[in-house]
Amino acid sequence: MVYVLNYGCRVNYYESEQIAAKFNGVVIVEKDIKKIKDAEPVFFVNSCAITSKAEKGSRYAVSIIKKYHPNAEINFVGCASKHQNKLNNAIIAKREKAFIKIQDGCADFCSYCIIPYIRSKICCRNVADVLAEIKAQPPVVKTIILSGINLTYYKHLNELSQNINKPFYFGSLEPNCITKDFLEVLHANSNFIPNFHVCLQSGCDETLSNMNRHYTTAEYLAKINLIRKYFPTARISTDIIVGFPTETDINFDRTLHFIKIINFDKVHIFPFSPRPKTAAFLMKPITNRIIKNRVDKLKSLLYNDNEKKK
Ligand code: SF4
Repeated sequence: MVYVLNYGCRVNYYESEQIAAKFNGVVIVEKDIKKIKDAEPVFFVNSCAITSKAEKGSRYAVSIIKKYHPNAEINFVGCASKHQNKLNNAIIAKREKAFIKIQDGCADFCSYCIIPYIRSKICCRNVADVLAEIKAQPPVVKTIILSGINLTYYKHLNELSQNINKPFYFGSLEPNCITKDFLEVLHANSNFIPNFHVCLQSGCDETLSNMNRHYTTAEYLAKINLIRKYFPTARISTDIIVGFPTETDINFDRTLHFIKIINFDKVHIFPFSPRPKTAAFLMKPITNRIIKNRVDKLKSLLYNDNEKKK
């Protein structure tokens, strides 16, 4: 089982959630370390270096893990790891999958999301740089996962995808990234693994609009159909936010219905939680009890669908 310890800002938390989701793991806090019973757990410590105190805290977690879980694999990632090349190399050497960040920042201002307020600067790594990092991976790394905050802003998706000579896929894609040209490029590169995580967030047009997401369910469905045209056996996953403030029972039922239509391989559920500064923070929240009921309803739909697929 994979356990992700998060330190630092909301963006780190977002990345920790992403890591946990990719490995079917969970995000935990320091006090959970000693409660874990796995014989050989895998830990990611998503570190922070904003102050020396924060950096010290992230490193302290590593010593606690070593104390309670001497057989654990420890992956020290995040900001403080940039000063820890030696440790990082040792970690990477144990990993079969390597996350490579190709883009940072977002200015989309989805109404629930804090990221544009703290990472508004858009940075895109150049293709040669990314290819060099891929080339430098140790032989044990079998798969490259290309990640970013919002890959819609990454202008070299096609050029990069054409030139990767190791098995790879993208950590997460916004619907707008899915174009005919992009899929053709991916299709032409036999190293591409057809795993598509395409963020949906809601299957209701009214809620999508209130979330300030810039697509409709019909447009999203068209993107998924296009993916399946090029990759009929593609694995398709998504994120869903449950309990957005304006989400009514009818809106939520629309989401359930839409999820059934798409027939995802995996849905990551995020119960809505208000983030200060965001537009949704000022909206009247719905109760935790309603959110929990909806989460349970969605989980049971996904469970029943999975049982049918077996
Ligand atoms: S696209 Fe929306 S949810 Fe994703 S990082 Fe940007 S603002 Fe946040």
